[in-house]
Amino acid sequence: MKIVVLKFGGTSVGSIDRIKKVSKIIISYVKKNYKVIVTSSAMSGATNELIKKSKEISNNFISEEYDVLVSAGEQISCSLISGRLNHLGYKSRSWLGWQIPIFTKGDHSSSRIQNINKKNILKYLKSGGISVVAGFQGINFNNRITTIGRGGTDASAIMLARFFKAEKCIIYTDVDGVYTTDPNTIKKAKKIRVISYEEMLEMASLGAKVMQPHSIQDARLNRIDIDVRSSFKKGEGTLITKRKNISSNKIIRGVSFTKNDAKITLIGVKDRPGVAASIFEPLYKNSINVDMVVQNISSNGKETDLTFTIKSEDLSKTEKLVKKNKKIKLRRIIVDSRVSKVSIIGVGMITTPGVTYRMFNALAKKNINIIVISTSEIKISVLINRKDLKKAVSVLHKEFNLEN
Ligand code: ADP
Ligand code: ASP
Ligand code: MG
Repeated sequence: MKIVVLKFGGTSVGSIDRIKKVSKIIISYVKKNYKVIVTSSAMSGATNELIKKSKEISNNFISEEYDVLVSAGEQISCSLISGRLNHLGYKSRSWLGWQIPIFTKGDHSSSRIQNINKKNILKYLKSGGISVVAGFQGINFNNRITTIGRGGTDASAIMLARFFKAEKCIIYTDVDGVYTTDPNTIKKAKKIRVISYEEMLEMASLGAKVMQPHSIQDARLNRIDIDVRSSFKKGEGTLITKRKNISSNKIIRGVSFTKNDAKITLIGVKDRPGVAASIFEPLYKNSINVDMVVQNISSNGKETDLTFTIKSEDLSKTEKLVKKNKKIKLRRIIVDSRVSKVSIIGVGMITTPGVTYRMFNALAKKNINIIVISTSEIKISVLINRKDLKKAVSVLHKEFNLEN
């Protein structure tokens, strides 16, 4: 059986008109003799509306009910797609996570798909039906509804492709592929034809929203090739695949950035072994992710300054936790919620000297101050003032020849 998994994101199914358009795309695969599994996101804005409602009910909305609520948008889009396919004379039905079931593991709202029961969907595909599976949701082993993180329908698609051994997994979105940087911010961004899992994972983790990072981890582990393309216009997109399949002479593959970072600096922290652990323990216990960290070498051996970044939405909670932490002594806290992280990504930097210098020099020439630096084998990230963000992305994009 030749199976294709087609994923449609929120904007792709954002209106009745769009749902009619994607139904035509789905039918084009049926006509090519594919057995089609569709997975869809909620109509754009729907999930945000549901999250807003949860906050209006309680600022501590219970996680089990939160997942029941925020997964509801996918039920609507999937039934509308199936309804349209039926209208056009095609056999189709929607499947919610619990009806399959899709089993997940982990905490509510950040679960991961573990297993998918194939029996009923296979039977349905064999009978000539188009299966439309609600993305983003599953159930856990207590039979409670779970969700798999914002943007999670990407991961639903990859796991469906894995379990059903699909020949193709196509992510339909509102851009026609993965670009060297966000094409909606930098007009000179160029489409990348083929990209490795490793580079895509870094780009996504560092802010390229086009693919959810977990979905790339799942694809890499299971060797699923991903085809990213536009549901708005025809044409080739981007293939995400293993590194071996790629020959490229670019040192840097792309520039990613985030807009919602905040920075906290603790001034005059009493320096002693274990102080950093004492600072971060309550943050970890409250599920606050710390990203970049720098600790200055203390000049007098007694006091040090420590800077770290978190998501802006966690800022006030983090500030409170630091202030009430009795295990640490410090003189002052400085917070800054107007910072952004810009990263350059590319496997080429492993073998090319001077990339760090070129990055810093390009930023310096534009008078952009670097606040914090962090590096890994295939990326360099800097924290800068948010007002310099667009200028920084543009200059790095140019410096590493991504415009050609
Ligand atoms: P969907 O609703 O289809 O899941 P998303 O909004 O999650 O779509 O992701 C698509 C968006 O990702 C694009 O509209 C684009 O602005 C943004 N984006 C950020 N970085 C990149 C990049 N490097 N390449 C392509 N798109 C990017
Ligand atoms: N609807 C969910 C969200 O907005 C999942 C998705 O779009 O992939 O995050
Ligand atoms: Mg998305």
